[in-house]
Amino acid sequence: MSASHKREALKIKNLLAEPQNIVITTHHKPDADALGSSLGLFHLLRRMNNHKVTIVSPSDYPRFLNWMPGQSSVIIFDPKFPELTKPYVDEADLIFCLDFNSLSRINELETLVKPSKGKKIIIDHHLEPEHFADVWYWDNTASATCELVYELIIEMGYKNLLDVAIGECLYAGIMTDTGSFRFPSTTSKVHHIIADLIELGVNNSKIHQAVYDTNTEQRLRFLGFALSQRLKIVKEYNTAYFLITANDLDRFDSQTGDTEGLVNYALSLENINFAALIVERPEMVKMSFRSKGTFSVRDFASNHFEGGGHKNASGGKSNLSLLDTEKKFLTVLENYKSVLNQKQ
Ligand code: 5GP
Ligand code: MN
Repeated sequence: MSASHKREALKIKNLLAEPQNIVITTHHKPDADALGSSLGLFHLLRRMNNHKVTIVSPSDYPRFLNWMPGQSSVIIFDPKFPELTKPYVDEADLIFCLDFNSLSRINELETLVKPSKGKKIIIDHHLEPEHFADVWYWDNTASATCELVYELIIEMGYKNLLDVAIGECLYAGIMTDTGSFRFPSTTSKVHHIIADLIELGVNNSKIHQAVYDTNTEQRLRFLGFALSQRLKIVKEYNTAYFLITANDLDRFDSQTGDTEGLVNYALSLENINFAALIVERPEMVKMSFRSKGTFSVRDFASNHFEGGGHKNASGGKSNLSLLDTEKKFLTVLENYKSVLNQKQ
């Protein structure tokens, strides 16, 4: 644990010394790490000092997370009715910002969070965070925000408050953000934390099943369709990508989260160092990027597609049409030929 972590953990502990009005928020379309870290912290705070705690999510989240303890109490912000959420954010003394590094990641919820008088506390593991917070519990070497929440609980001296509900939420985020414990971010420390959670009573196999073995038939058929009809391979750039139209999503009645993980199939190809998923969403074209080895998809996303993330997993967007986005993608790819051709 670094000195700065100890310092920030102490600041957070002090801020929590008296009962507070607390809002926890996370990024748009929360994944297991975003929702798991929010709920893990939510349960902890509710076990302390009579805090009033509310989770406000900028959007809905995938159905494979609907088993998480406490998820039914999450308030889902609706940009058409901001007044329903505004009182929570306006009255907050503290706003925890989990698993995101830029206010643009909470979409329209930014218009409530930014002007709020509440002190903002970042807990995050993305590269190069923006300076919008008062407290900063941040580490880009952490495998997941859930890892940081676990560490923070220990550092604040609240290990006795850890229970199975918190453990299940944190386990899920670490499991998914490490690709089930296989990405390079899976350190021995991660395995120690996981061992602690299992000893606490977390049923790891049950969580894996709840997240990965609850597909709808439509989602599986969509996966088959995407693999056979929508995967494109650009051999000379060691790149593979999916191009998914709005019509494809409609045809398979695609729900929030149904495209999650798809990009990894493209990356699983031998000799492919860069994979992308380009999806025509109603409001924009959304992109997910993944890489093996030295190619930084964070830089790629931030340089060309208004995005960011991690070195090997990032995302971005485009306001061009789907086909113009594909053209732009292929054009900018040319700048990276030499790094993409390196053996990883
Ligand atoms: P995913 O492809 O799973 O949606 O996201 C991969 C990573 O990139 C995540 O860590 C996520 O936070 C980040 N990311 C995805 N989309 C965006 C975006 O539009 N902007 C930024 N700054 N980061 C993104
Ligand atoms: Mn994360």
